[in-house]
Amino acid sequence: MRGRYIAGGTTLVDLMRETVERPETLVDISALPLREVTVTERGGLRIGALVRMAEAAAHPKVRTLYPVVSQALELSASAQLRNMATIGGNIMQRTRCAYFRDVTAACNKREPGSGCAALEGFNRTHAIVGTSRQCVATHPSDVAVAFAALEARVHLLGPDGERGVAFADFLLKPGSTPNRDQSLRQGELITSVEIPAHPRPLKSGYLKVRDRQSYEFPLTSAAVALHVRGGVIHEAKVAAGGVGTVPWKLPAVERHLIGERSSQALWTQAAERAAHGARPLAHNRFKIELLKRTVERQLRIVGGTP
Ligand code: SF4
Repeated sequence: MRGRYIAGGTTLVDLMRETVERPETLVDISALPLREVTVTERGGLRIGALVRMAEAAAHPKVRTLYPVVSQALELSASAQLRNMATIGGNIMQRTRCAYFRDVTAACNKREPGSGCAALEGFNRTHAIVGTSRQCVATHPSDVAVAFAALEARVHLLGPDGERGVAFADFLLKPGSTPNRDQSLRQGELITSVEIPAHPRPLKSGYLKVRDRQSYEFPLTSAAVALHVRGGVIHEAKVAAGGVGTVPWKLPAVERHLIGERSSQALWTQAAERAAHGARPLAHNRFKIELLKRTVERQLRIVGGTP
């Protein structure tokens, strides 16, 4: 493996200790001027790649404009890790699949062509959507689910200059190349994540369901943002975590909500569409029902009931 950028180091150093990652060179980027949160000309928000998770969660603009982002960050990891880990590093973090971290196990993501121990192994926490025969690991980030829901954009800088990539295209489903997690080109660096302006007021929030209350990755999660005017839902942004190989946008749920009025029946009907296309494994069929209930509950929390 060639060089890697390092900032907070909260994932990469762990993986190096376990010899899962063995970069030849580490480039410390922590002194780069990428630590600002700014409101864009169009009224969106740009979060520098080196903003710490705790700083982003506490930032007044993030809290007021996009509480779903603050909540997703605050429900991630431990306070100590949130004080070190950066936004860029968070969306770059690698899967928590136990076989990926066990160098004696077959894992196509760690070692292409070696197989996937999770397919026939213990796969309770693995993905039910976006999977392939090569890999069924979930993406572990909470805030990435909020970014996916809000249709954020990742800004990159590389040898060929700057470019922006839609969040939906930045993280890659495993397909036949599960070793590639992001659509980064050689030498590219994340400089910021931009959340576009959405109609206001935008009510939003993040719900995470996990085996224990703290320092745990999601079994399921839901990021919801709604713009309601005159009692009618004019904009709906919904994504799920813990179920996909990438943060899983739910366009069928969104479409069902647009133009409707809040009601318990609406939340239930919309959430029924959350698990379309799911392909459960031997131990994670329960995630289908859990996902629907998670989405329904978060729609009700954000949208309320008349
Ligand atoms: Fe490796 Fe993916 Fe299989 Fe886990 S699910 S063992 S990360 S190939």
